[in-house]
Parts: sequence; structure tokens; C-alpha cells
Amino acid sequence: MFEGLINSLYIIASIFFILSLGGLSHQTSAVRGNILGILGMILAVCGTIAAKAVDSIGIIVAMMAVGGVFGIIVSMRVQMTAMPQLVAILHSLVGLAAVFVGFANYIEPLHEYVGVEKVVHEVEIFVGVLIGAITFTGSVAAFGKLQGLISSRPLMLPARHWLNLIIAIVCIWLGAEFLGSSDHQTGVTVLLIMTLLAFVLGLHLVLAIGGADMPVVISMLNSYSGWAAAATGFMLENDLLILVGALVGSSGAILSYIMCRAMNRHFVSVILGGFGTTGGTAVGSIEGSISEINVDEVAGLLSSSDSVVIVPGYGLAVAHAQHPVAELTRKLQDSGKQVRFAIHPVAGRMPGHMNVLLAEAKVPYDIVEEMDEINPDMPATDIVMVIGANDIVNPSAQDTPDSPIAGMPVIEVWKAKHTIVLKRSMASGYAGVDNPLFYKGNNRMFFGDAKDSLDKLVSMVG
Ligand code: NDP
Repeated sequence: MFEGLINSLYIIASIFFILSLGGLSHQTSAVRGNILGILGMILAVCGTIAAKAVDSIGIIVAMMAVGGVFGIIVSMRVQMTAMPQLVAILHSLVGLAAVFVGFANYIEPLHEYVGVEKVVHEVEIFVGVLIGAITFTGSVAAFGKLQGLISSRPLMLPARHWLNLIIAIVCIWLGAEFLGSSDHQTGVTVLLIMTLLAFVLGLHLVLAIGGADMPVVISMLNSYSGWAAAATGFMLENDLLILVGALVGSSGAILSYIMCRAMNRHFVSVILGGFGTTGGTAVGSIEGSISEINVDEVAGLLSSSDSVVIVPGYGLAVAHAQHPVAELTRKLQDSGKQVRFAIHPVAGRMPGHMNVLLAEAKVPYDIVEEMDEINPDMPATDIVMVIGANDIVNPSAQDTPDSPIAGMPVIEVWKAKHTIVLKRSMASGYAGVDNPLFYKGNNRMFFGDAKDSLDKLVSMVG
């Protein structure tokens, strides 16, 4: 009867988690999705405590209090622009937890396993620790890159793919040794060696991936952390953890695949640490000069335009310029102009970054369009305002084969009649490459902090 109640709680929690994922797939239902996820988590924690799957409720409550307070402080302090780093470091904790649970479970199993059961249990432990260790150091490396602690350029060690292959083969061999080990002491030693190698592999896989591919890495690590959680669920014989881990693992893998397609990258090549990429460097010296524009001239150009497209990027988030841009949009619409936003799948520093900012500033969803929808309309557009974006509007992705961003689909803003780029300097974007757009004849540079520039513009328009 009691077990039935716990199972019912787990089933309801699972349904909440599935509905939560469904809700998070669209801006209009994202808040509901979040709330359903929170409710699912509360039921899951209550079910686990009630099932007496924990030895000491006191320790659990104390740990939850510490973690909860820490979580609240971090969530209140973290800047929107630093969310990807936060996600990366949280993934690293899931990986580390899988490693610890694996060791604990091997040293002190829940039951005495024999025969096939013992083999299956040890495979679960080995695979769980392996994925967990790769996720841990991979996520720490991703955190370092996103936080700017280490260079976003790919680390190109000589024979790097051989290094990965050798580590993978040694890990498989260690797996066979682990399953065949006659005593616990040997087993722990083998597990420890494999963990250290997996730490190196995770670090190396992510360090070899260039800045422009980092969005895929983040969602891939999200997927790995899901599989690590599922493996932990098998070790702890917790069905809900297996299900949630599989949900996170598969949704992360699907998202990674979609992002790879959106960025014209090969999924397998990114997973294998940039396998098959040469890690091109720069676009070379760009011919031509730039032309600046001031706020009066921008206001004049806008007033003589009928169709306006706004391309927001990372700089919009840094400058917190979403509210003035929404205000500018309203004013332009009130004066009869067609205004639309063009969103690149990797604009900003996390998937959906721009959509979240525009939704916060109450920009209507129906004028926010995806890159593929708006690209064909570029030649008929009077003016494109690029606000704090750089890599996502870089033409060298299409016409410079040795560019690090070669092949990445971009918003073809240069095809519009005029483009105006709002940024503070001639600095490059995240991928570290120059942008020939800035030197084109139909482009003007409007230098300054995006919020300051837009505030001035709003006061002059309408
Ligand atoms: P970029 O990083 O290419 O460019 C941002 C631009 O914003 C910079 O050139 C910078 O120039 C400008 N900027 C910064 N601060 C301000 C400010 N206060 N006011 C005005 N401008 C400012 O961003 P994009 O959005 O174009 O492209 C995203 C990049 O990030 C891609 O390379 C993508 O691969 C990568 N990435 C994306 C992730 C995702 O999931 N979306 C995750 C990780 C990486 P200046 O300093 O001169 O002002």
C-alpha cells in the first residue's frame, strides 16, 4: 500500500516533468513549464524521503537547506549574460555526484549482488562513473571558456584525436579488468585510474572545441549530465531518477543535434572534440574603411525607411538594452513602419537568450522571427539595425572557407539597403574573428554602449 503510494507520487512527478519539458519549448508556456518542473521536483524529493531511501532525514534536510540558500543567492545575483556559465558549472556538479555515488555504491552496495546481477551492477557503476567524470571536467572547461578564464580558441594538441582514442581504448580495457577484479581493493584502484583518465578526456574534448561551437557543447554537456543522472538512478535503483535522467539526456541530445544543424556543424565531429575540423584562425586583413554615423543621422535614416529589421546579439544583453529597443519599436510602429526582429539560433550566450530578453521587455512574439524566415526578406528591407551582434552577422561564414566560423548560417544583413551596427568598438565577437560587414559600403558604425545609444535614439524618434 505504502509502496503503491510512493510509486504513484513518482508517476505523477514523471508526468509533471514531461509536461514541464513540453511547456519550456515555447515562450508563451515557459513559465507554466517551469512551475510544473518545480512541482515535479517537490513530489520527487518528498517521495524519496518518504520511501526511506535515505538513512538520515536530518542530513538530507540540512544539505537541502545549505543547497537551497546557496541556490537562491546565486539565482538572485547571476546576470542574464552569465547564465550559460552557471548552467555549465551546475552540470559539473551532476557529473561529480555520479562519480561519488558510483564509488560509494561500489564500496558499500545496497545489496549483496551475485552472478549476472553483480556484472550488471558493476557495468552500471563503471559507465556511470565514466560519464560523470567526463561531464565534470568537460563542464568545468566549458565554464572556464564562457567565463573568459581560458581562451575560447580551440586547443589543438598534436595527435589530439589519437590521444582521445587511446584514452577511450584504455578505459574499455580497464572496464574489462574492473568486471574481472577478484577483490574490492583492485576494483577501487581500477575505477580510480579510469576516473582520472576520464577527467583528462572530458577536459581535452571540450578544450579542443572552438568558441563558436560552445552552444552545442553546453547542450551536449546537458545531455551527458542527464545520462550521468540516469546511470546514478540505476545504481540507486531509483526509477524516477532513471526516467528524469533519460528525459534530460535525450532532450539535450536532440537540442544538440538541432543546434548542430542550425550551425552547419557535424554532430559527431563536435562530440568527438572537433574531429575533422582544422580550427581555422582568422579572416585575414580586411580591405576598406569604416564609416561612422551619429544619432541624428540614424534617426533621419529611420524616419525615411518603411521596413526595419533589428538583429539583437550578446551586446544587447550586456548593455541591458532590451527596454529601450522595445520602446524604439513601439515608436517606429506608431509612425507606421514595419518593424521585425531577426533571431539567430546562437545569438547571445545561450539558446533562446534573445527571446527571453525581448519577452521580458514585452516585445510582441509575432514580430520576432527566426533567421530562416527573415533571410529571404533582407533584399527588400530598408534598414537593419544590428545591436551588439557580431558573429551571427559575419559574411565571412559564407565566403571565407578557412574562417573558424565557416559554414555557420548567418543573418544576411548586408543584403539590406542599409545596415547600422551598434557596438562600442571594433572588437571582435565571441569567435574572435574580424567582421567584413563593418567595412561594406552600405554599412555605418554607430559606436557606443547599446543602451546609451538607444536611449538617445528613442528621445529623437517619433
Ligand atoms: P558576439 O559575441 O559575436 O558579439 C557581441 C558584440 O557585442 C561584440 O562585438 C561587442 O563589441 C558587442 N558589445 C558588447 N557589449 C556591448 C555593449 N554594452 N553595447 C554595445 N555592444 C556591445 O555575439 P553574437 O550574439 O553576435 O554571437 C554569439 C556568439 O556567441 C557566437 O559566436 C556563438 O557561437 C557564441 N556562443 C553562443 C552561445 C549560445 O548558446 N547562444 C553559447 C556560447 C557561445 P564591442 O566590445 O565593440 O562593444
